[in-house]
Amino acid sequence: MNAPTDPPFSAARQREVLAALRAKLPPRCILSDAEDTRPYECDGLAAYRQLPMLVLLPEDEAQVAFILVTCRDLGVPIVPRGAGTGLSGGAMPIAAGVVLSTARLNRILSVDAHARTAVVQPGVRNLAISEAVAAHGLYYAPDPSSQIACSIGGNVAENAGGVHCLKYGLTVHNVLRVRMVGIDGVAVELGSAALDAPGFDLLAVFIGSEGMLGVVTEVTVKLVPKPRLARVVMASFDDVVKGGDAVAGVIAAGIIPAGLEMMDKTSSRMVEPFVKAGYDTEAEAILLCESDGIPEEVEEEIARISEVLQNAGASAIAVSRDEAERLRFWSGRKNAFPAAGRISPDYYCMDGTIPRKHLAKVLTGIAAMTLQYGLRCANVFHAGDGNLHPLILFDGNRAGEFERAELFGAAILALCVEVGGTITGEHGVGIEKIDSMCAQFSAAEIAAFIAVKRAFDGAFLLNPNKAIPTLNRCAEYGKMRVQNGRLPFANLPRF
Ligand SMILES: Cc1cc2nc3c(=O)[nH]c(=O)nc-3n(C[C@H](O)[C@H](O)[C@H](O)COP(=O)(O)OP(=O)(O)OC[C@H]3O[C@@H](n4cnc5c(N)ncnc54)[C@H](O)[C@@H]3O)c2cc1C
Repeated sequence: MNAPTDPPFSAARQREVLAALRAKLPPRCILSDAEDTRPYECDGLAAYRQLPMLVLLPEDEAQVAFILVTCRDLGVPIVPRGAGTGLSGGAMPIAAGVVLSTARLNRILSVDAHARTAVVQPGVRNLAISEAVAAHGLYYAPDPSSQIACSIGGNVAENAGGVHCLKYGLTVHNVLRVRMVGIDGVAVELGSAALDAPGFDLLAVFIGSEGMLGVVTEVTVKLVPKPRLARVVMASFDDVVKGGDAVAGVIAAGIIPAGLEMMDKTSSRMVEPFVKAGYDTEAEAILLCESDGIPEEVEEEIARISEVLQNAGASAIAVSRDEAERLRFWSGRKNAFPAAGRISPDYYCMDGTIPRKHLAKVLTGIAAMTLQYGLRCANVFHAGDGNLHPLILFDGNRAGEFERAELFGAAILALCVEVGGTITGEHGVGIEKIDSMCAQFSAAEIAAFIAVKRAFDGAFLLNPNKAIPTLNRCAEYGKMRVQNGRLPFANLPRF
């Protein structure tokens, strides 16, 4: 792949690009001073930072198209950005590139309650969609824990998931149509309002493409009716292996819960003083298993779930009695990432997926790694999807701890691949897992990804050097793993 290696920033280059962009962009849409661009220097993977040459805030699709064409003509890399909550460095800037922020493309364009769809601009927050359609008794199902802040454009680019995705599907299952502008400034519609569309399924190719194929300017989402009732079972286990086996047991019993999440003891102890959800902080694992639907259905399913969990060895079981209690049970799970800051100066959130039947094995493996790497790890995750989120706790001010956290993270992902899983469930590859892509895919598969990238963006200017490694990089990665001691991401700027 002829991706441009990150060119150095120069004031002359900045002046040249600014002059071209000012031809059509009003001054309020351009940030060029370091103090204005600093808030954009990283996403949620804050260990890696880079000031961009410029930040651009287009206000309509025509401005997006103008920015893309201008940057293409001048050979300037473009990093699309939604809310910057990504955890894999996908929106991290390039020194001599621009960040294209969708913050001002934040309108809900239409809601069709009969068709149960909404058309929204990319900068609309995930939760704002559900809030806007609540009066119709509808909501947008994919619910990342960051839903209060993250944008639907970012969700499309990452194929975001959440607690409810086990039953209702990921972003890819809840988006009907995407309008995007390619590097040549031309808007293209992928998918349609109908259930199926003729031609190649480019919508599926685009969703999860991490800003590398085009800039999303409009999204048609599916809406689902709000269930009449939702209740959650909270079960304690004195052993993570029993908890992991219980997860497999629920699914094996033919139950598809509205959410099936697990927290280990480190996680429940981390969040309980903060949220006071009533978690059993002596339990080695806590499972939260939700049922939603019509009341009769829910009651029957809750009884079946409780029975399966009991048979799997739960030491205590509680069922939410009302909506307030249900939200309280979930509050700790939803706040787990921020709560990590209470017990550790830094944390590194991993995102691997494994077949559910291997949950117990992988959790035991991670526990062994905490001793090997000398770092604590809190496990809080979408157990029903087999999507792990180990939070590796470290102190970036202590020499070598960040590097050890990275090696620990790479070892977890390698274990996920070994048991037949993947290196990311929902947070994307970005810069964080680019080397782990070499562990997951063969050279032929990576070449196929590169061919798709080339078909959309032959100049490799859209979010270059993210998500897809070059084959050379993979060769070097292989060397790095054999030679030991060389760090991943050695060519990336570090804060
Ligand atoms: C506390 C916390 C909890 C989280 N929980 C979850 C979770 O439960 N599930 C989950 O899936 N994720 C979760 N995340 C990760 C993150 O919120 C998601 O990946 C989210 O989809 C990112 O959206 P964003 O708007 O912040 O995108 P950004 O971080 O701004 O960008 C993410 C990627 O999308 C691209 N992009 C953004 N907008 C566009 C656009 N309009 N067109 C083309 N490309 C674009 C960027 O280039 C980048 O590659 C969590 C993050 C945090 C901080």
